[in-house]
Amino acid sequence: MLPILPIRYVEPVFRPPSEAHSLILPVTDGCSWNKCTFCEMYTAPQKSFRARDETEVLESIARTGERLGDEAIDVRRVFLADGDALVLPTRRLLTVLQAIREHLPGVRRVSTYCLPRNLRKKTVGELRELAAAGLTIASDDLTSRIL
Ligand code: SF4
Repeated sequence: MLPILPIRYVEPVFRPPSEAHSLILPVTDGCSWNKCTFCEMYTAPQKSFRARDETEVLESIARTGERLGDEAIDVRRVFLADGDALVLPTRRLLTVLQAIREHLPGVRRVSTYCLPRNLRKKTVGELRELAAAGLTIASDDLTSRIL
Protein backbone atom coordinates (compact mmCIF):
# COMPACT_ATOMS: atom_id res chain seq x y z
CA MET A 1 0.00 0.00 0.00
CA LEU A 2 1.30 3.43 -0.99
CA PRO A 3 1.99 5.99 1.76
CA ILE A 4 0.12 9.30 1.67
CA LEU A 5 1.60 11.05 -1.31
CA PRO A 6 2.49 14.75 -1.69
CA ILE A 7 -0.08 15.26 -4.43
CA ARG A 8 -2.99 17.69 -4.07
CA TYR A 9 -6.23 15.92 -4.90
CA VAL A 10 -9.47 17.82 -5.42
CA GLU A 11 -12.48 15.62 -4.72
CA PRO A 12 -14.16 13.90 -6.37
CA VAL A 13 -11.27 12.10 -7.99
CA PHE A 14 -12.22 9.66 -10.75
CA ARG A 15 -10.19 6.56 -11.38
CA PRO A 16 -10.96 4.80 -14.68
CA PRO A 17 -11.38 1.04 -14.17
CA SER A 18 -8.39 0.36 -16.38
CA GLU A 19 -6.29 2.52 -14.03
CA ALA A 20 -7.02 0.50 -10.90
CA HIS A 21 -3.33 0.24 -10.07
CA SER A 22 -2.16 3.56 -11.48
CA LEU A 23 -0.84 6.58 -9.68
CA ILE A 24 -3.42 9.33 -10.34
CA LEU A 25 -1.51 12.51 -11.12
CA PRO A 26 -3.66 15.63 -11.64
CA VAL A 27 -2.23 17.97 -14.26
CA THR A 28 -5.54 19.77 -14.71
CA ASP A 29 -8.72 20.01 -12.67
CA GLY A 30 -12.05 19.28 -14.33
CA CYS A 31 -12.91 19.08 -18.02
CA SER A 32 -12.29 21.90 -20.49
CA TRP A 33 -15.60 21.14 -22.24
CA ASN A 34 -17.89 20.23 -19.33
CA LYS A 35 -21.08 20.60 -21.36
CA CYS A 36 -22.26 17.03 -21.93
CA THR A 37 -25.76 17.09 -20.48
CA PHE A 38 -25.55 13.56 -19.05
CA CYS A 39 -22.22 14.07 -17.31
CA GLU A 40 -21.85 15.30 -13.76
CA MET A 41 -18.27 14.25 -13.24
CA TYR A 42 -16.79 17.72 -13.03
CA THR A 43 -19.77 19.94 -12.21
CA ALA A 44 -18.86 20.68 -8.60
CA PRO A 45 -17.52 24.23 -8.16
CA GLN A 46 -14.14 23.01 -6.98
CA LYS A 47 -13.81 21.04 -10.22
CA SER A 48 -14.08 24.05 -12.55
CA PHE A 49 -11.58 23.59 -15.31
CA ARG A 50 -8.10 24.91 -14.80
CA ALA A 51 -4.63 23.84 -15.75
CA ARG A 52 -2.55 23.07 -12.70
CA ASP A 53 0.46 25.24 -12.07
CA GLU A 54 3.42 23.59 -13.77
CA THR A 55 5.69 24.06 -10.77
CA GLU A 56 3.18 22.37 -8.50
CA VAL A 57 2.89 19.35 -10.80
CA LEU A 58 6.65 18.97 -11.19
CA GLU A 59 7.18 19.30 -7.44
CA SER A 60 4.48 16.69 -6.82
CA ILE A 61 6.28 14.23 -9.07
CA ALA A 62 9.70 14.89 -7.54
CA ARG A 63 8.42 14.74 -3.97
CA THR A 64 6.45 11.56 -4.68
CA GLY A 65 9.65 9.95 -5.93
CA GLU A 66 11.46 11.09 -2.77
CA ARG A 67 8.67 9.94 -0.48
CA LEU A 68 8.54 6.49 -2.04
CA GLY A 69 12.30 6.06 -2.06
CA ASP A 70 13.23 2.54 -3.17
CA GLU A 71 9.53 1.75 -3.64
CA ALA A 72 9.27 4.34 -6.42
CA ILE A 73 10.35 1.58 -8.79
CA ASP A 74 7.06 -0.20 -8.00
CA VAL A 75 4.97 2.55 -9.58
CA ARG A 76 4.37 1.09 -13.04
CA ARG A 77 1.50 3.19 -14.33
CA VAL A 78 0.51 6.85 -14.14
CA PHE A 79 -2.82 8.39 -15.15
CA LEU A 80 -2.75 12.10 -15.96
CA ALA A 81 -5.98 13.55 -14.54
CA ASP A 82 -8.53 15.07 -14.68
CA GLY A 83 -10.82 14.75 -17.69
CA ASP A 84 -8.75 16.24 -20.44
CA ALA A 85 -4.98 16.47 -19.95
CA LEU A 86 -4.28 16.75 -23.69
CA VAL A 87 -5.67 20.27 -23.59
CA LEU A 88 -2.26 21.27 -22.22
CA PRO A 89 0.45 22.44 -24.59
CA THR A 90 2.73 19.67 -25.83
CA ARG A 91 5.77 21.29 -24.26
CA ARG A 92 4.20 21.20 -20.85
CA LEU A 93 3.12 17.59 -21.23
CA LEU A 94 6.64 16.62 -22.32
CA THR A 95 8.05 18.30 -19.23
CA VAL A 96 5.69 16.28 -17.04
CA LEU A 97 6.58 13.05 -18.82
CA GLN A 98 10.28 13.78 -18.47
CA ALA A 99 9.85 14.36 -14.72
CA ILE A 100 7.95 11.07 -14.40
CA ARG A 101 10.84 9.27 -16.09
CA GLU A 102 13.35 10.95 -13.83
CA HIS A 103 11.63 10.51 -10.49
CA LEU A 104 9.48 7.40 -11.04
CA PRO A 105 11.78 5.21 -13.12
CA GLY A 106 9.57 2.11 -12.85
CA VAL A 107 6.75 3.68 -14.87
CA ARG A 108 6.02 1.74 -18.04
CA ARG A 109 2.71 3.31 -19.06
CA VAL A 110 1.29 6.82 -18.89
CA SER A 111 -2.29 7.37 -19.96
CA THR A 112 -4.89 10.11 -19.96
CA TYR A 113 -8.41 11.03 -20.91
CA CYS A 114 -8.76 13.49 -23.73
CA LEU A 115 -11.33 15.23 -25.85
CA PRO A 116 -11.06 14.24 -29.52
CA ARG A 117 -10.93 17.92 -30.50
CA ASN A 118 -7.84 18.43 -28.35
CA LEU A 119 -6.24 15.32 -29.80
CA ARG A 120 -6.88 16.71 -33.28
CA LYS A 121 -5.12 19.95 -32.37
CA LYS A 122 -1.87 18.05 -31.91
CA THR A 123 0.23 17.38 -34.98
CA VAL A 124 1.30 13.85 -35.80
CA GLY A 125 4.82 14.90 -34.87
CA GLU A 126 3.66 16.11 -31.47
CA LEU A 127 1.77 12.88 -30.81
CA ARG A 128 4.85 10.90 -31.75
CA GLU A 129 6.93 12.96 -29.34
CA LEU A 130 4.43 12.38 -26.56
CA ALA A 131 4.30 8.65 -27.24
CA ALA A 132 8.09 8.44 -27.30
CA ALA A 133 8.16 10.25 -23.95
CA GLY A 134 5.82 7.63 -22.45
CA LEU A 135 2.25 8.84 -23.03
CA THR A 136 0.94 5.85 -24.94
CA ILE A 137 -2.80 5.73 -24.19
CA ALA A 138 -5.29 8.57 -24.67
CA SER A 139 -8.95 7.69 -24.50
CA ASP A 140 -12.18 9.62 -24.40
CA ASP A 141 -14.05 9.13 -21.16
CA LEU A 142 -17.26 8.16 -22.90
CA THR A 143 -16.05 4.92 -24.32
CA SER A 144 -12.60 4.38 -22.82
CA ARG A 145 -11.60 3.65 -26.38
CA ILE A 146 -7.89 3.52 -27.06
CA LEU A 147 -7.24 6.04 -29.84
S1 SF4 B 1 -16.15 15.56 -22.28
FE1 SF4 B 1 -16.26 13.87 -20.80
S2 SF4 B 1 -15.77 14.77 -18.81
FE2 SF4 B 1 -16.25 16.44 -20.21
S3 SF4 B 1 -18.42 16.86 -19.89
FE3 SF4 B 1 -18.28 15.42 -21.59
S4 SF4 B 1 -18.42 13.36 -20.70
FE4 SF4 B 1 -18.00 14.81 -19.03
